[in-house]
Amino acid sequence: MKKEKSCSVIIARQEHGVSRKLMSPNALRTLYRLRDNGFLGYLVGGCVRDLLLGREPKDFDVVTDATPGEVKRLFRNCRLVGRRFRLAHIHFQDEIIEVATFRSLASNEPESEPEDANGPDHRQRPPRIVKDDAGMILRDNVYGTPEEDALRRDFTINALSYNIADFSIIDYTGGLADLNAGIIRTIGDPAVRFQEDPVRMLRAVRFAAQLAFTIEEKTLKALVAAADTIVRAAPPRLYEEVLKLFLSGEGARCYELLRRTGLFAALFPDFSNWLDAESEGFPHARFGEMLSYADSRIQQGGTVSPPLLLALLFGEYLDEKAAHSRRQGMPWQQSVNAAVAEFMGETCPIIMIANRVGLALRDIISQQMRLKKIPGRRPESFIARPDFNDIVEYCRITCGDNKDVVKQLDWWAAQARQQAPLPPPSGPAAEAGAPQRKRKRRRRRHPQANKQGVRGIMEPRPQ
Ligand code: ATP
Ligand code: MG
Repeated sequence: MKKEKSCSVIIARQEHGVSRKLMSPNALRTLYRLRDNGFLGYLVGGCVRDLLLGREPKDFDVVTDATPGEVKRLFRNCRLVGRRFRLAHIHFQDEIIEVATFRSLASNEPESEPEDANGPDHRQRPPRIVKDDAGMILRDNVYGTPEEDALRRDFTINALSYNIADFSIIDYTGGLADLNAGIIRTIGDPAVRFQEDPVRMLRAVRFAAQLAFTIEEKTLKALVAAADTIVRAAPPRLYEEVLKLFLSGEGARCYELLRRTGLFAALFPDFSNWLDAESEGFPHARFGEMLSYADSRIQQGGTVSPPLLLALLFGEYLDEKAAHSRRQGMPWQQSVNAAVAEFMGETCPIIMIANRVGLALRDIISQQMRLKKIPGRRPESFIARPDFNDIVEYCRITCGDNKDVVKQLDWWAAQARQQAPLPPPSGPAAEAGAPQRKRKRRRRRHPQANKQGVRGIMEPRPQ
């Protein structure tokens, strides 16, 4: 191990266990081409962390000192994306490798691409780092050095680089020691880092849960102090992050940490209040139980669709809202529509659930009635619905012990087996994709029946 002039530590190839065999061949091809053309090429972030932990990385991120324009000239299969900060996407048959130019958080910017550097550039440039009044970064697109690039990352364990030039690992922030000790620690002052980007708080929780790591004391203290500010992050981004938390395979652990830190109450204020109150003397324990179910399914290699996840997590809450409306005389279907619309109205200003996901959630809940009617009317059209499996799964998990329900689900399973499509043909025609069966459009019987449709579901909560 060698100490460099900056505060970096270099771990030589023979001193670490990261093998190229575990890397994506496409990422390696990308790195070799950069190196062979005189550029630096590093793997960075989560993939280095995961390789060191012996876990399979989700994706491989490459950073380089080549500008996006230079990367584009090196790779025919390259597309540049991003308006403010350009990234190169190298397209391979089954994978896209993202290549970014080293970035910095410092404002003494070596900012222009070499092709602009023929002489002084007198054009007015917009500022490259923009923060709002509360210190949240709105934009940062300054090129930097490898070290600056590491320092702008969120946690020490996410700032390790693998250098293709000599296959060494470079550690600028003490990430390796934290990785060995199982610690999540922000790079720099945690209060400032969470202020710059509140989503980092959710990332801290996710990594702590997924890796079974501990959030370091100062980082945790700052996180708890800043938990309420999570709502300043963009709602579509929070939706993505919340899904990542609950579909990480360690959702139950994430939930526990979110509750303990105050993040959960900030993200789901109304639902959290409801959770804290009992219904008819019983605590609401289903949220945690459903997360454990999703975790075991994901850990066994299965998947849970976002609408099914939301139905499992919030179904009990929605049922209670719907029952309340029914007690006031609202018909069944309308009560479910209203409950989902109210839930979307209270959740979406903070966590932007896509409208189509909200509609699918509503369908899973409202189609439960249809499952209970056997022999069902037009079972073939019901089974052909793309969300049929989610509707059945929801029923199975939420009331699977009930003997009548088991009988109903058996009936539907038998129908579905009868209707199962023939095994897919093999050969070139099959590879080209079998023609999709055309679904007949059904005439709408009541033009008013879907009043609570795409627009209705987004209606704000009645005051
Ligand atoms: P995952 O296993 O979920 O992919 P990851 O750490 O690779 O985990 P990514 O979202 O793929 O997460 O991000 C890649 C890297 O980019 C991170 O490891 C980190 O270095 C950096 N990064 C991502 N999000 C942030 C952020 N909000 N602030 C600072 N750095 C970030
Ligand atoms: Mg990643």
